[in-house]
Amino acid sequence: MRASTYPLIDADEAAALVLTHTPVLGIEKIALAHCVGRVLAEDLVATASLPAFPSSAVDGYAVRAADAGKQLRVVGESAAGRPFEGKLTPGSAVRILTGGVLPDGADCVVMVEDVEEKGGVVTVPASLKPGLNFHSPGDDLRSGERVLRAGEQLGPAELGLAAALSFPRLPVIRRPRVALMSTGDELVEVGQIPVRGQIVDSNRWALLAALREAGADVKGLGIGPDEPDALRRLVIEALREVDVLVTSGGVSVGTHDLIKPLLESLGTVHVGRVKLKPGKPFTFATLPEGKAAFGLPGFPVSSLVTFEVFVRPALRKMQGFAHLQRPMLPVRLGYDARATAERTEYQRVTLRRDGGELVAETTGSQSSSRLMSLAGAHALVRIPPGNQGIKAGTTVEAMILALP
Ligand code: AMP
Ligand code: MG
Repeated sequence: MRASTYPLIDADEAAALVLTHTPVLGIEKIALAHCVGRVLAEDLVATASLPAFPSSAVDGYAVRAADAGKQLRVVGESAAGRPFEGKLTPGSAVRILTGGVLPDGADCVVMVEDVEEKGGVVTVPASLKPGLNFHSPGDDLRSGERVLRAGEQLGPAELGLAAALSFPRLPVIRRPRVALMSTGDELVEVGQIPVRGQIVDSNRWALLAALREAGADVKGLGIGPDEPDALRRLVIEALREVDVLVTSGGVSVGTHDLIKPLLESLGTVHVGRVKLKPGKPFTFATLPEGKAAFGLPGFPVSSLVTFEVFVRPALRKMQGFAHLQRPMLPVRLGYDARATAERTEYQRVTLRRDGGELVAETTGSQSSSRLMSLAGAHALVRIPPGNQGIKAGTTVEAMILALP
């Protein structure tokens, strides 16, 4: 064993360092069908008013308010997509359907329920107001108006707006391409039966899910060996096609821990050890051409917790999101929490509601190999460094993964 030469950095400082060195990616113009969840890269300005024509809100008769109380001759029909081409003259009405164009000369629509029709003549109510029952051009939005801002995430309503304005494609921030590799000679592929001393590579599947959930486009690199030259070749090859490298394992100080020296030789290691539990050996490096590498610890819980604390916010920054962090909320501890000297600890908890408060219960043993501590967890409670621990009933901050 050799002692690590990397300074132990405060967890918040390390997270800030990662973001400082993380660029926002470039712009691509893509079809609406692929835009859901993406971040708009430029303001979207309306090229037309909506509605573009006076449009009936109901089924009924287009009339002149001045003809209130009269018997009117029905001279034609304006259906959706099939306007009445003539002009409405005094004493007449045009049958109109929802979405039909209000004919020239008409200034209101009488609902079909409010008239009597007999032999091509309708009797309209005694009192009518101009403007009744139709939408004027520009009521919903006006040509030249900014309808979406750069930086907004595109969801159903935003995409509906873009479609209504007939934009087939939108400029969005690119998604990060990420190469994902597990390292360790003890690892075997899922589906295989491990022999004594071997374990199944679970991190790659957990991290694949976490990366996809965070918006990354993932390229799987399989299992890398604990052999410096072979590992180096694999990593250099993979980096050609991606923005980010994510590895698990090989970052502690044992002799087989090869990731730190490898990243050191390829770029600059900014974080090599963090005052964080789990996740002390978390490693972050920048590489040539604006690329980045995250060396996550091998223990399954450590890899996922450091993903949440460091990698996810960075991937979100790359994609242009305004909010990088999971929501932090105050929660009341339902258990006595042990603390760790010198290290911020993220303990896995379930949450329940008690009146207006959230109460956190531990998921059991917090061993960094025990994925059961994270499965089904609602939050990571943040236990500041200390020797005393924190008593049940105390309010602490929690990173919310899912609210109950
Ligand atoms: P390391 O960081 O390489 O020293 O690994 C620390 C611990 O995590 C060891 O017990 C490894 O067997 C385990 N580990 C490493 N990589 C994986 C993986 N991909 N899936 C599951 N466990 C792993
Ligand atoms: Mg290893």
